[in-house]
Amino acid sequence: MKFGGTSVGSIESLLNLRDIVNAEPKPVLVVVSAMGGFTNQLLAMCEQAQQRDISCLDILEAARKRHHDAIDGVVVESMRDEVHATIDRFVDDSLKPYYLALATNPHMPVDEIERMCDAIVAHGEILSSAIVAGMFDDGVPHLSLNYMRTVPDGNGRVLDWEETGRLVKDDFAAMDDGVHVAQGFISRDKDTGDVTNLGRGGSDYTAAILATLLDAEALEIWTDVDGFMTADPRTHPDATVIPQMTYAQAQEMCDAGAKVIYPPTIAPVAMKHIPVWVKNTFNPSAPGTVIIDE
Ligand code: ASP
Ligand code: MG
Repeated sequence: MKFGGTSVGSIESLLNLRDIVNAEPKPVLVVVSAMGGFTNQLLAMCEQAQQRDISCLDILEAARKRHHDAIDGVVVESMRDEVHATIDRFVDDSLKPYYLALATNPHMPVDEIERMCDAIVAHGEILSSAIVAGMFDDGVPHLSLNYMRTVPDGNGRVLDWEETGRLVKDDFAAMDDGVHVAQGFISRDKDTGDVTNLGRGGSDYTAAILATLLDAEALEIWTDVDGFMTADPRTHPDATVIPQMTYAQAQEMCDAGAKVIYPPTIAPVAMKHIPVWVKNTFNPSAPGTVIIDE
């Protein structure tokens, strides 16, 4: 079950997430995005810091408060202190020093800046997942940096399926019960160990990769729309939800710019014939779209 940025972006949506996950037979794997808007903020703060504008630290404090408020609203009481401390630790011991280093080091080589910004942007999912894991009495936290592996490919990066497969089998070996929680988007370089990611919007792809490697019964993409639509509802108010599609149709729509799913998501689950559900966290009883072979 993958929950996107809006689905983990407010107390109201996190409480919906909790009800949706609790209604599911266990074990279940929940893959989360960063709280809505936070990835953009983390990257904007990188730009600001490089311009020596340390007002980015004010934005960071506002983000810290947003996470603490969410913890008070949704995390089980016995876990609250621990999750508050986790947020503070990542903000004070990682994010702040990284931003200050960017802001005060004018001669930092470009590749070092890139590495630092990749490490920074990973914190969106690291922080949101700490909150989500703390919402469940039977929550089991995982760290995607421990098993998602990328290798360079042209100007970008691709998943190393072999190494990732091996590490995922180890990390999820004892997955007999409970609500397992993992970060979308984030990874490490297979050879250098540097923090990397699967590209903007990549949490869907993380969920598809894990569903594939763990032979999931289904992949559910929980988002803020009712499913794939016949047209963009902003320009076509009469657009309707498509109840059922094939993998090929879904791939075609994603490639043509439908924003519902990150395009690389479809291929791995299609290979394994794992059905993909697109469902609305804010309207969970709506049937959504199911993507299958025929
Ligand atoms: N948080 C990342 C982004 O905003 C990944 C994702 O949400 O899928 O691009
Ligand atoms: Mg997305």
